[in-house]
Amino acid sequence: MIIAIIGGGAAGFFAALSAKKHFPEYTVIIFEKSAKVLSKVKISGGGRCNVTNACFDNKELAKHYPRGENNLRKAFEQFNAQSTVDWFEQRNVALKTYPDNCIFPLSNDSQTIIDCFTKEASTLGVEIKFNQSITEINRTENGFELSTREAKFQADKVIVTTGGHPKRSGLEWLEQLGHTIIEPVPSLFTFNMPQDPIRELMGNVVENATVKVEGTKLIGKGPLLVTHWGMSGPAILQLSAWGARILADKAYQFSVLVNWLDDEKDEGLRVHLSKIIEEHGGKMIGNLNPFPMTSRLWNFLLTKSEINPEMRWKDLGKNVTNKLVNTLINDRYVVSGKTTFKEEFVTAGGISLQDVNFKTMESKIVPGMFFAGEVLDIDGITGGFNFQAAWTTGFVAGKSVRLLSSE
Ligand SMILES: Cc1cc2nc3c(=O)[nH]c(=O)nc-3n(C[C@H](O)[C@H](O)[C@H](O)COP(=O)(O)OP(=O)(O)OC[C@H]3O[C@@H](n4cnc5c(N)ncnc54)[C@H](O)[C@@H]3O)c2cc1C
Repeated sequence: MIIAIIGGGAAGFFAALSAKKHFPEYTVIIFEKSAKVLSKVKISGGGRCNVTNACFDNKELAKHYPRGENNLRKAFEQFNAQSTVDWFEQRNVALKTYPDNCIFPLSNDSQTIIDCFTKEASTLGVEIKFNQSITEINRTENGFELSTREAKFQADKVIVTTGGHPKRSGLEWLEQLGHTIIEPVPSLFTFNMPQDPIRELMGNVVENATVKVEGTKLIGKGPLLVTHWGMSGPAILQLSAWGARILADKAYQFSVLVNWLDDEKDEGLRVHLSKIIEEHGGKMIGNLNPFPMTSRLWNFLLTKSEINPEMRWKDLGKNVTNKLVNTLINDRYVVSGKTTFKEEFVTAGGISLQDVNFKTMESKIVPGMFFAGEVLDIDGITGGFNFQAAWTTGFVAGKSVRLLSSE
C-alpha cells in the first residue's frame, strides 16, 4: 500500500508520521514542491513556533476557529491540545506554557520541532521527495496517478496537505476533481489608518479595549496596540479573523469604534467622572489621568475631545463631558487597507468542509483522497490554534488511510 502525502508542511508531516505509526507496513511518501520541508514551522511564532494553546476543553478549543469550529470539535475527539502536549513530551520535546496560554518549545526555537519531526520520520521510514510539485491527480482503477511536470507516480491513497493558497487558481486541480472551493481571503492582519494622528502614539498599548467594526456585529476584545501604520494587537487580530470575509468584501475600507475602557458604558463612565470632579476638582485634567492608559494617550484623547489639558476637572462643563465620554468609549477611526501581522497570516477559504468527513478527513467526493491543514476552509485566531488544526487533521487523516470509504 502506497500513501502519498502532497506537501511537506505541518499537516503533511503529522499525517505522514501518523500513517506510518499506525500502519508500519505501508510505504508513506511525502512529495514536497520546494527544496525544504516545514518552512513555515521554521519561521512560525517569530522563530519560536507556538505549537498549541493550553485550552484543554474541546468545545472551548473549537471556539477559536472562525471557520471550522463545528467540524474540528469532532476531530478533536481523536487528537486535541492535550494530545499535542503528550505527543511532543513523549518524544522528549519539553514545552512551556506562557501566561497567555500559548505553548512553545522550552528551547524557544522552532528548529526543535523540525528536528523532532525529521528524526521521527527517519526512524519510522517515511520517504521524502523534494522538488516535486504535484500539478495533477487522476483516479486510476485502484488508486491515483500523481503528476509533476517531469514524472508520474502511483499511489493507493492520497493525503492533500498543500497549505493555504492566496488565490483560487492554486486550488483548481482539486476543484477539477469535483471539490467545492470556498474563495480564499487573508485572515490575521492589522488595520491601516494612513492619515490618522493616532499613529504618532506608536507603541502605546491599552490592555483591555473593545473594538467594533461600524455597521457590523464584529467585536474584538483585549489588548490594543498602536502601530506605525494604525492599530494591531489581539483585539484587532481577532476582528481580522472573524471578519476576514466581510472586511474583504469591503475592500478593507471601513471604520472602527474603539472603547478605550474595556466595555465601560456611558452611564458608568459619567458616575466615574463625577467622582473625580468631586475628589480632585482643582487638579489639571492633563495631569490627572484616571484611566489605565499612558498619559500620552490620555492627552491625545483630551485633544481629540477639544479639551485643554490645563483645564481644571471642576470646569468640565456638560458639553465637554459629552465629548470626552464619546471619545473614551466610542472613538471612531477610518481604516484604509491592511498590513500583515509579523508576517504571520493564514488563509480563510479552501476546500469546502461540506466535502470532507471529519471522522476520517476523507473526501466525500473522491474516496481514497484525504485532506489536512490549511488547504481546508479552516483557520484559527493567533495563539497556536492554526498548528493545532494542522496536527489534528493530519493525525486523523494518517490514522484513517486504511479504512474503506464506507466505514
Ligand atoms: C510567519 C508565520 C508564522 C506563523 N506562526 C504560527 C504559530 O506560531 N502558531 C500557529 O499555530 N500557526 C502559525 N502560523 C500558521 C501556520 O504556519 C499554518 O497554519 C500551518 O503551517 C499550516 O500547515 P499546512 O501543513 O497546512 O501548510 P504549510 O505549512 O503551508 O505546508 C504546505 C506545504 O505544501 C507544499 N506544497 C504546496 N503545494 C504543493 C504541491 N502542489 N506539490 C507539493 N508540495 C506542495 C508547500 O511547499 C509547503 O511545504 C504562522 C504562519 C506564518 C506565515
